Amino acid sequence: DNQYYLDRQSHFESNARSYPRKFPISIKSAQGAWLEDVEGKKYLDCLAGAGTLALGHNHPSVISAIKQVLESQLPLHTLDLTTPLKDQFSHTVLNLLPGRADDWRLQFCGPTGADANEAAFKLAKTVTGRAPIISFTGGYHGMTNGTLSATGNLGAKSPIHGLMPYVQFMPYPYAYRCPLGLGGELGEMALANLFERFLDDVESGVTKPAAVILEAIQGEGGVIPAPVQWLKRVREVTKRHGIILILDEVQAGIGRSGEFFAFDQSGIVPDMIVMSKAIGGGLPMSLVAYRAELDVWAPGAHTGTFRGNQLAMATGLATLDMITQQGVQENVNIAGQALKAGLLQLQQRFACIGEVRGRGLMLGIEIVDAKGKPDMLGSLPYAPELSVALQKACFQAGLIAERGGRHGSVLRFLPPLTLTLDEVNQILTRLETALTAVTK
Ligand code: PMP
Repeated sequence: DNQYYLDRQSHFESNARSYPRKFPISIKSAQGAWLEDVEGKKYLDCLAGAGTLALGHNHPSVISAIKQVLESQLPLHTLDLTTPLKDQFSHTVLNLLPGRADDWRLQFCGPTGADANEAAFKLAKTVTGRAPIISFTGGYHGMTNGTLSATGNLGAKSPIHGLMPYVQFMPYPYAYRCPLGLGGELGEMALANLFERFLDDVESGVTKPAAVILEAIQGEGGVIPAPVQWLKRVREVTKRHGIILILDEVQAGIGRSGEFFAFDQSGIVPDMIVMSKAIGGGLPMSLVAYRAELDVWAPGAHTGTFRGNQLAMATGLATLDMITQQGVQENVNIAGQALKAGLLQLQQRFACIGEVRGRGLMLGIEIVDAKGKPDMLGSLPYAPELSVALQKACFQAGLIAERGGRHGSVLRFLPPLTLTLDEVNQILTRLETALTAVTK
């Protein structure tokens, strides 16, 4: 009734600073890819905790892992003291890293992805004795002082003064709107070349960076996969110059891209790999894996109270087991291909879909102004208002999807990795309803 609605509105205004403003519902229950609100309306969740809920909501193996810990007398909090559960979790993660487990060390960090990126920056600075960090346009690494400084989105940074100095941005290979005005492979290679020249010039004057940080598939930046050849070049060049390469796998990692890490396809081995979101199986956790020879930290050099939540280790282990042993990784490829094929079909019918991008179950559609003037690559102008309207229409049609990218004009799909083909069809049907509503 109206009073209930008004109460709820004021509740949202007072405690809801972000997502609830776009999705004003109160969630009563959740299962798999589905949410049900207090009014009984069901939504398909293509946000899934910003990619955190790899197995969806309340997966039986996650619930049972939590119950087992609660019934076992294991401590729930240990700072970073070891338990058999932590040993098992660390062993499992180390064996999923490229090369040999012995080549790596793990640093458990605070609960968020930003915490782990901060740790990576600190370690890179300590190892190299240098300060500058190179990041990429459109990159997203967190909202803390240091990680926001390395985030390539001016909107979030402009009100904050005195961010971490010495962060330099290079253009990311965003082929649809290549910053060099060259499309496809040519543009991507030109950007790799530019990056290489920049670092070569560094030798002749500019301060040499400590680290380069990047996402193999930009998530918040608008679902932009980096081409394999570009990643390889970045790895070669950073190695040649003794610059630490940090791969931020917070969103794209842990099976979402169709492979365990989003960089796997390129065969590169980074110096540091940052993990959060799905690695904790839906509970807060973050960590940095770094090559053993970078282990210069003295005991106590990077401490903190909440370092490795025991429950998250149990839910993380259950999630890793499902992804790597129980067919969830294969499902990402099957459901991902079906969803991408369906999005490409919708692109044939709706001119406002400028590009369909992404891999596995990390997909996005860039919404453009179909009546606008194409640029020299043939790409149409951004359509931020239409993207907002489309997101709203999706919500009304029972589909929750977040926007990202330049001017917020990319609608992103990050469903649970357990998504069924029937759910793929339901996403597409709801999206089609929404597209029809906003373009008619
Ligand atoms: N890196 C990437 C690639 C992310 O997508 C995010 C979160 N969206 C972060 C870092 C920051 O993680 P958190 O919000 O947990 O600090």
